[in-house]
Amino acid sequence: MSVIQRQRNKRNLQTLQHRPRRRCSAWKCSTPTLPVGNLCKRHHKIETRSGAANAASISARRRAPFRRAAQHVLKVLRNRRDESTLLMLREMDALLQCLSQYPRQNNLRGLPPKDRARALLYHIKRQGTQYRSRPANEGAALRILIHALAVEIMSRAGKLPSSAPSYLKTQVARAVYGLLRSDIRVYEIESMRRPGLMLKNRVVTKKMSLQRKNVVRHLYSFIEPIYRYWLTKENIALVLGQKWMQRQENQ
Ligand SMILES: [Zn+2]
Repeated sequence: MSVIQRQRNKRNLQTLQHRPRRRCSAWKCSTPTLPVGNLCKRHHKIETRSGAANAASISARRRAPFRRAAQHVLKVLRNRRDESTLLMLREMDALLQCLSQYPRQNNLRGLPPKDRARALLYHIKRQGTQYRSRPANEGAALRILIHALAVEIMSRAGKLPSSAPSYLKTQVARAVYGLLRSDIRVYEIESMRRPGLMLKNRVVTKKMSLQRKNVVRHLYSFIEPIYRYWLTKENIALVLGQKWMQRQENQ
């Protein structure tokens, strides 16, 4: 680096540090901003988590009626051999089948965001084949679609607290991420004190974190094109016309 360049960098840094702090741009907030960006510490944190500075993430409970309705409609259309539904399921299956193997969930440090998003889908798929006893488990592809579509349909129905595209993307990614579990392995070892006695050992691998904005962006760009064309006016109306929706309206 040249001397001139170094001096210029130093000057730039100084002006950045001495810049008068502006007020946070979130609604009704007058706290000074962080040195970078236009949000205060608190609103920056909210935005990182939910995708919008002024809205917290939607709870699983609020999403539940949309999820049940989407699940019902998808299963009915699949059984009727509806072409666009079968195509969507096949494409999601293909995406999951094409994923290469990734290390265990606690061994993903340093992976670039795009691969992190793939690893997330890989682990959901892998777990889906292990937990056969879980009720309503009809494969990872269907479950991922149900959870993503529930959020998309909430958005189309104006039920999300923010209309920011980054909020929608983050909420879809979080809904899919919610399918992931920690990995628990149980294996038996023989007791040292009483030979012949088998002891059960339980090893838990903690669930990977969703981490940064970029993982959300990649995850969304992997799955959204698969269901984009399924989200027709007719299919959205079909989901919104289910009994779970009316119960929600009455509340
Ligand atoms: Zn603020």
